[in-house]
This record gives sequence, C-alpha cells and structure tokens, in this order.
Amino acid sequence: MPITVVGSIAYDTVTTPFGERNRMLGGAAVHFALAASFFDEVRVVGPVGEDFGEAELDVMRHRGVDVSDIERVQGGRTFFWRGKYGWDLNSRETLDTQLGVFEGFKPKLSDASRASDVLFLANIQPDLQREVHEQMAAARFVALDSMNLWIEAARDSLVKTISVCDCLTLNDSELRQLTGKASLLAAAREVLSWSPPHPRVIVAKQGEYGAALITEDGFFSLPAFPLETVMDPTGAGDTFAGGFVGYIAAHPEEELSDELLRQAMAHGTALASFNVEEFGTERVAHLSGPEIVARVRQLREFTQFSAAALPLGE
Ligand code: AMP
Repeated sequence: MPITVVGSIAYDTVTTPFGERNRMLGGAAVHFALAASFFDEVRVVGPVGEDFGEAELDVMRHRGVDVSDIERVQGGRTFFWRGKYGWDLNSRETLDTQLGVFEGFKPKLSDASRASDVLFLANIQPDLQREVHEQMAAARFVALDSMNLWIEAARDSLVKTISVCDCLTLNDSELRQLTGKASLLAAAREVLSWSPPHPRVIVAKQGEYGAALITEDGFFSLPAFPLETVMDPTGAGDTFAGGFVGYIAAHPEEELSDELLRQAMAHGTALASFNVEEFGTERVAHLSGPEIVARVRQLREFTQFSAAALPLGE
C-alpha cells in the first residue's frame, strides 16, 4: 500500500566524535522515505529551496521514491539543521535550526499522494500535520512523530494531532515530557487512555537502548541492534519509523495485531541500525533488501530465549 510522508527535507551539518559533514542530505521525511522504500511505494510531500540539488533528489529517486510532490520554492532556502554529538551519542545539541521554506508552507497533496492509504506525519508543526491528515481522511493507517519543541510551543495542537492518528512514535524523554509521567509505561498508557479518538499504538524510541511498543493489549521491547561502530545517529528515529510503518504498509490484508507490530518493530530496528553506521543517509542509500533480512534474522537470534522452568525455592 503506497505511503505518503510529510516532513522536513533538509541540509544537515553534523559533528560527531567520529567526523563531520557539512550540508549533507537530511530531514525527517528523507530518512523515513529511504527506509520505507524497501517495503512499498513512497511519496514525499514537502518544500525545498532553490539551493536544493538534483543530486539530493536523485538519492531518493534511486530508491524509487516519488519526489513529484516535493515543491521547489523560488527564492527560498531549504530547511537547515546543525547539530553536535558528544561521546554519549544518545544526547545531542542543536546548534542551529533555519526553517527556511517551511515558514509559510501550505501542504498541497497531489491526487496520487492523497490516494495513499498509509500516512506518516514526520516531525513538523502539528497544525501542518493535521492539515495534511485532513487531506487524507480515508487513510487506513496514520502514524506521527514529534519533538520537545512542539510539546513546549504547541502542546494543545500536538495533542489534537496525536488524537486523530493511529500510532504515535516519540522519544522516551518526550513521552515523559508530554504526559508528565516518569514511567515510560505509565506515560504510554496515559496517551492510550485519552478520550477517543486516540492512538492505538505507541512506540517509545530509546536511542541506543532500542524501542518499546505499547498497545492496549500488550507490551514489547527490542534492544537496538548491537554494533561496534556507530558514526552518526542523525535520522535513526525516522529511519526506524520508515522500517516500522513500511512493514505495516506492506501487509495491507493483515489486521494490526500485536504480532504484526512486533515484526514491524524488528524491521524498524534493523533499518535504524544501518542508518547509524555512516553519516546521514549514506548507508541506507546503498543498502540492499537481503542485508535487512539478514539483520532481522540476527536480531531474532539475539533476543530469543527459551522459557526454562527452574523450580525456585521460597
Ligand atoms: P532524528 O535524528 O530521527 O530525530 O531526525 C533528525 C532529522 O530531523 C535531521 O535530518 C534534521 O534535518 C531533522 N530535524 C531537526 N530538527 C527539526 C525540526 N525542528 N523540524 C523538522 N525536522 C527537524
């Protein structure tokens, strides 16, 4: 089932302890689209400036991503983000954010983008996320991501957007911030208990510690895929979402069961692990399907154990 994604299409300048890149291709929608493209057709909606290069569009085209709804704004500048990581790659400092063409952006979806029945609202202003959602009222599955900026600056709007989606993906600290609950499980259950409509699925992203899935009926958690070398975590959350949502989109006949969601979690985890091995989109842009399949299999081996019935004393 085709997937439409709306969100930032960016130039990122990133410094990690292992190197730096200046104005490389980035953005939440781009990371998502490259990952999801392994599973289904993906259409990206969002603006870029005059400075955005054909080579960057080609990275997406090369993965079969439909870029025809990427709007080039005359005289505008592409969204720019600059960030720095210390040895603890789990926390980063944002040094600069320039919204550029996102200021005043009014999303206009083509008929093809509207016809997708899976929608991912990547991290952007929550009013804009709802505007897109309203243009795709018939979508079968809608997921969204957000960040601390919007929890602080536009909480009411964000809560409205969350309430009309099926799935919320958020960093664990942001889920705590959103709900004021210290426990991740309690925070997720709080969102699941909002008066209807509310999301049915919560994914709490925990950086190098993996991700947890909380639904009304269940809980599931996977560690991040163990890696000896991590170069740059930028975009790992969106790449995870691309694998997770992509897997769900590729199973249109299946009910959104906890089993399907667990499989989707494994694919998201595998995709995210490739993303962090190189800077920005570099690794996922030259990834292959069989590599993903092999990593999902390994992840299964790493996380499986048998239920040994050892009688324990009082
Ligand atoms: P992640 O590491 O998954 O949180 O995503 C990082 C990506 O999000 C980078 O490629 C940035 O271009 C993009 N990004 C950073 N800040 C923002 C923001 N305020 N709005 C939208 N996208 C952003």
